[in-house]
Amino acid sequence: MRKHILKLFLIGLFIAVFSGGENLAAAQQAFDADAATEAYLASVPAEDRAASDAYFEGGYWLILWNTLYGLAAAFILLQFGISRKMREWGEKVTRFKFVNIFAYIVQYLIVSFAIGFPLTWYAGFIREHQYGLATQTFGPWFNEQLIGLGITIVIFGFALSGLYKLIAWKPKTWWLWGGAGTAVFFMIVLTISPVFISPLFNDYKPLEEGELRTEILAMARANQVPAEEVYWFDASKQTTRISANVSGMFGTTRISLNDNLLNDATLPEIKAVMAHEIGHYVTNLFIALILPISIVIMLGFGFVHVTFNKVNARYGAKWGVKGIADPAGLPLLFALLGVFFMVMTPLLNTIIRENERLADTYGLNAAQEPDGFATIALKLGAYRKLDPTPLEEFIFYDHPSGRTRIQMAMEWKAEHLGQMLEIEDLLEAVERMEEEAASAEE
Ligand SMILES: [Zn+2]
Repeated sequence: MRKHILKLFLIGLFIAVFSGGENLAAAQQAFDADAATEAYLASVPAEDRAASDAYFEGGYWLILWNTLYGLAAAFILLQFGISRKMREWGEKVTRFKFVNIFAYIVQYLIVSFAIGFPLTWYAGFIREHQYGLATQTFGPWFNEQLIGLGITIVIFGFALSGLYKLIAWKPKTWWLWGGAGTAVFFMIVLTISPVFISPLFNDYKPLEEGELRTEILAMARANQVPAEEVYWFDASKQTTRISANVSGMFGTTRISLNDNLLNDATLPEIKAVMAHEIGHYVTNLFIALILPISIVIMLGFGFVHVTFNKVNARYGAKWGVKGIADPAGLPLLFALLGVFFMVMTPLLNTIIRENERLADTYGLNAAQEPDGFATIALKLGAYRKLDPTPLEEFIFYDHPSGRTRIQMAMEWKAEHLGQMLEIEDLLEAVERMEEEAASAEE
């Protein structure tokens, strides 16, 4: 009986492929991608839209406040000689230069954490609660901030000490080498984070056997992702946001999704998200993202190289900062970088957004779930303004907006509709035949 059905299926497929042209044209005419996009956007209640717009637009201002706050903090550390004193304490620890620098940086990171805490608390806790995005009470949240500080001290302690050794070693070209070092630094952090960092904040457990796990792993295998297991993690203890990732490299690769996605999304939606994440993994993260970002950071170092000594020539004597190679000048170095990155916000966002668009395109093809993709874009719209102006999207968006994503999905759907209808028809026909066969056998 099975063989018979298979034969019928193949005949059907043959007919479908060779009569596809007409069906496709008819289906494309019947489906209007623009109208479908508007219909999806219109399905969101006005008050939800207003809340997510307000939340997201508040984030625009936070970019400015963050930079100004950072400048004020740097000013305090330099003007009151705090930075100079921290360097002197660092020198008392030992006679080894690297350890002196490291000791300064540890103090700097702890003091900066303390000075920056009011803004961190507002942006990361109060505001998130105001908009119903956070689920943590203050205690566990603060505990995670301390874990984050610990990780920052270890990673940036070494990275920044390395940067100062580099400045001393190559005073004219350090900024070029620093850019290259940044790319290596990103690779290391991306490799170790799924194994050593993420588990410090969440529990990762293998997803139980079932349709979802099977489908995700099938999609991974079909797209050359070397993962044998799908993990889920308990993000709901921190946030209501949905998220997933395919992370790691060189043998640390893992596919993970959070429990909010698992609980709030349908199978087509989850497939759409996971295919996007697979797209990130497959479309060469180094070339598409790490390299361009590292080049921008290299330009930032170049900007510091050009401006640092000019500012320091005027105020350095008062601050006790001997020059760019003096770690006591780190607040100035970061202040200059902060201004540079604020100005570069549109460029950085565009690099990241284009990478996301690439993953979206890949994901649409891999999952073939345009409607799942559209409805998940609406769900992400809970905290990302759905329908910005093109200029707003260019400046502030590090992901395509909901409108852009839904439009992409509907255009994909329009072009594949004939095909999708035929496959659906065929699957239905096979199902019918199987049912008939089963009842005939009874
Ligand atoms: Zn992405």
